[in-house]
Amino acid sequence: MDKQTNILLIYTGGTIGMVKDYKTGALKAFNFKKLLKNIPELAQLDCHIDTISFENPIDSSNINTAHWVELASIIETHYNSHDGFVVLHGSDTMSYSASALSYMLENLAKPVIFTGSQLPIGDLRTDAKENLITSIQIAALRKKGKAVIKEVGLYFEYKLYRGNRTTKLNAEHFEAFASLNHPPLVESGVHLKVYHENLWANVKGKKLIVHKELDNNVVILKLFPGFNPSVMKTILETPNLKALILETYGAGNAPNEQWLIDQLKNAIKKGLYVVNVTQCSGGSVLMGQYETSEQLQKLKVINGKDITTEAAITKLMYLLGADTSSKTFKTIFETSLRGEMQ
Ligand code: ASP
Repeated sequence: MDKQTNILLIYTGGTIGMVKDYKTGALKAFNFKKLLKNIPELAQLDCHIDTISFENPIDSSNINTAHWVELASIIETHYNSHDGFVVLHGSDTMSYSASALSYMLENLAKPVIFTGSQLPIGDLRTDAKENLITSIQIAALRKKGKAVIKEVGLYFEYKLYRGNRTTKLNAEHFEAFASLNHPPLVESGVHLKVYHENLWANVKGKKLIVHKELDNNVVILKLFPGFNPSVMKTILETPNLKALILETYGAGNAPNEQWLIDQLKNAIKKGLYVVNVTQCSGGSVLMGQYETSEQLQKLKVINGKDITTEAAITKLMYLLGADTSSKTFKTIFETSLRGEMQ
């Protein structure tokens, strides 16, 4: 790390920068400049930090595809002038945003680190300072003049994960995220321990391509015992619906009842893409392992393997936005594009 390392800190909102409205007691987004005053430690870091803020910082529950395009555009504009990017973001939808950005930034060769906190930065017991300071240090890590991390990561409570492998698992603990199907990229202790073997090995020398078309004609349907067939029918008849994530049980299993198979068969025939993703946070879909997934396999349902739901839904938006042909859609979805699946 040296004075020449330029980091861009992008503030989108989230608890990290919130303050309590003393009338209602609710947390709301706060002015970014005031937020920075709460972290004088930033001046001690051995790199140059520029900052940029969303005009209207948001609670991340309000995030949508237009915000992702805004974020990708900010990174695109500053890509050549900065060596790394830290995105301050609410934790609620951080895994979705990190996944979306991983697809949108093709051939990324610099770190984009998402972070946030469970307690506001002004709170005495805040987790915000450690998360922010270490994220900046990770974004500034360089070896022989080159960035060490060349992917979209998510840093929370002493661990950097691949962003598109994460899920928010806890609304209360400082350790809010998990990445059950991919080990951490970096761990923070007395030293920063980089696990080089876990990093995404990008194809070298390719120019950054920023994809800004995302198609949100997609839906997630979580199965549960007692699922009402007419609800499924209504969803499948949604005008212009292009893709559906079926959150199945265990290793990709669904009831082998005729109504379900018939409805899916019809929808697939009409051109709907159906992806099998497990409801479990860890492990993988193994279609054909049980009788209850054989039917899905026969219908040529797309195999989500060990992808998270967050990475799957954003992958659909990205592939549909990129006008991926129907002939190759299944093969491309089943291929790891940014290390999001095995
Ligand atoms: N509701 C907040 C948000 O996602 C929670 C957080 O920042 O952790 O913006």
